[in-house]
Amino acid sequence: MVRQDKIAYLVTAFQLEAQDFPSSSEPPLDCMIRTVLSQATSDRNRDNSYRSLRKIFPKWKDVAGADTGQIETAIAAGGLARRESATIKNVLVWTENRFGDYSLRELTDWETEDILETLIKIPGIGIKTASIVACFSLNRNVFPVDVHVHRILSRMGITSRKLNPDQTFYQVDPFIPVGRDRELHISLIAHGRSICRPGNPDCSGCLIAEHCDYANHKNDWIEC
Ligand code: SF4
Repeated sequence: MVRQDKIAYLVTAFQLEAQDFPSSSEPPLDCMIRTVLSQATSDRNRDNSYRSLRKIFPKWKDVAGADTGQIETAIAAGGLARRESATIKNVLVWTENRFGDYSLRELTDWETEDILETLIKIPGIGIKTASIVACFSLNRNVFPVDVHVHRILSRMGITSRKLNPDQTFYQVDPFIPVGRDRELHISLIAHGRSICRPGNPDCSGCLIAEHCDYANHKNDWIEC
């Protein structure tokens, strides 16, 4: 069961009604490759890898024509270069086969459900990456859930701690207020980095502690 009341509480607590983060104009294919490069590394390493990739291979066609070893060398600044190079190649080959070009712009006119269902068919692409592209590049009302967002939602008791991030996405996405997906995702990522850290959450300094199951030793977190 999803605690919709606590989702509403988060929107109020983070003052999301008063916020309107600027939308991104990054093309969806660029957004997808950048997201692939973000696995298990910092934003800085991700951006360094992305810059290096674009410098060595200015066009996506050039990356598609390279072998995975060359791609791996270009993105070595990231954490999982071998796996990511294979996924990047898969994404580019799939995109060219599907749309006849190295572009995902055609998705702009698609229904959101069709976008997500289609993108997760690309080998190596899961619902987290697909939802980030839909939310941040295609400006859809989709709420991406990564490990950090999942950690806070489960500690709050909005969803069960027994779920994984992908399961949490499918549970909570329908209940995020329309137009607040991006803002809530960004706010939770920032909260997870500064306060609700993985190992030592600063519950005494947390503005949402009053309604947090972890902080109050309730439900899934009784023994903690
Ligand atoms: S009270 Fe603690 S566990 Fe709960 S959201 Fe805040 S920092 Fe995280």
